[in-house]
Amino acid sequence: MALIIQKYGGTSVGNIDRIRAVAKRVIQSAGRGDKVVVVVSAMAGETNRLIELGKTVSRRSEGREFDVLLATGEQVTTALLALAIEEEGRRAVSFLGHQVQITTSGAFSKARIESVNTVRTLEALNDGYIVVVAGFQGATREGSITTLGRGGSDITAVALGVALKADRVEFYKDVDGIYTADPAVCPDARMLPKVTYEEMLEMSYLGAKVLHPRCVEMARRNRLPLIVRSSLNFNPGTSVVTEEEIMEYAAVAGIVCDKNQVKVSLLNIPDKPGILAGVFTAIAEDEINIDMIVEDTTGADRATSVSFTCGSADLGAAEKAAKKITAKYPGSSYAVRSGLNKLSIVGAGMRLHSGVASKMFTALAREGISVYMVNTSDIKVSCLIEAKYSELGVRTLHDVFELGKPQPRKAARTAKAARK
Ligand code: ASP
Ligand code: MG
Repeated sequence: MALIIQKYGGTSVGNIDRIRAVAKRVIQSAGRGDKVVVVVSAMAGETNRLIELGKTVSRRSEGREFDVLLATGEQVTTALLALAIEEEGRRAVSFLGHQVQITTSGAFSKARIESVNTVRTLEALNDGYIVVVAGFQGATREGSITTLGRGGSDITAVALGVALKADRVEFYKDVDGIYTADPAVCPDARMLPKVTYEEMLEMSYLGAKVLHPRCVEMARRNRLPLIVRSSLNFNPGTSVVTEEEIMEYAAVAGIVCDKNQVKVSLLNIPDKPGILAGVFTAIAEDEINIDMIVEDTTGADRATSVSFTCGSADLGAAEKAAKKITAKYPGSSYAVRSGLNKLSIVGAGMRLHSGVASKMFTALAREGISVYMVNTSDIKVSCLIEAKYSELGVRTLHDVFELGKPQPRKAARTAKAARK
């Protein structure tokens, strides 16, 4: 008998018919003898609606009272799902974050989970109940309701999985699993039966909006198996597993594209120790979320240039910071380029294959796509390109790395073994 966490996102509980379908599905799993804890999001669009509602009476859009307000979205779906399960003849009980005792930090709208109490949930499971838990929410030690940040129900599901020592966490989505590329852009994109935690983590950070990166990281640390599958069919979906569980890799597992990127360059600033620290402290104070950073000292004597990227939501703040910084240094200037996308290839197999980056650059060049900045890790290469070329870029790379076809079966050894 397994203990399974099933997480259903906003689309999967987006209306009453879907909630009824989820109830049937949950009962089916429980009927196999497994203990099931279900974590739900608010109905699709509901969290946005609540934010707008709050904004009609407040100039703010987050903080303590917003968390009280936003947490109601998940309260509704939790109760409706428990009712629907009971209507089908199975016993169910709903718990809000504070009822489970999901204790968080006091950072409203972006709280971190500090501990999860398992007593009440285990008791209910042992008494034969299906337990339905509200995602995205918790409470501080003092009892204030908190939320975990947008998309935070994924984090609730994995945190519960870890605390309850679940056998796996299943994420039910409106897609079949993790794809080699966005199927809307790449018609021959394939679903990947398995990806490693590291690949999933990179993909999440690089813009694949399938799982919250914080939940992937938590699952990886605890070696908790994850499955991403559709709530609309019974396809097996994608398993997120350790490297040891994948016997062979293609160099590239998938292509991801992160939209709305901005590049800011500070030109001809003094080249001496402490300057970079000063620049990025100023930027951090303005709460700008920096992604890539490149410094290049080959300019004029004792001068350097540094470029960074951020999301376009931070464009105004980044421009202001650049103005402020360059005003301090005579002869320096800044340049801002918006309308960029970050196109990335991700694959644990990159550690085994050489020439992956050059293949990427060659393919992009052949299509006349300019690259404005490059960033790499051992399992990804990211290129900043003009937004208008992003779909062409995704398709080009998907072709050149032959992701549309079944992967060639090469040396059957793990990346770990190869590194030894
Ligand atoms: N309802 C929250 C949101 O829309 C949390 C979630 O869906 O995971 O961000
Ligand atoms: Mg979500």
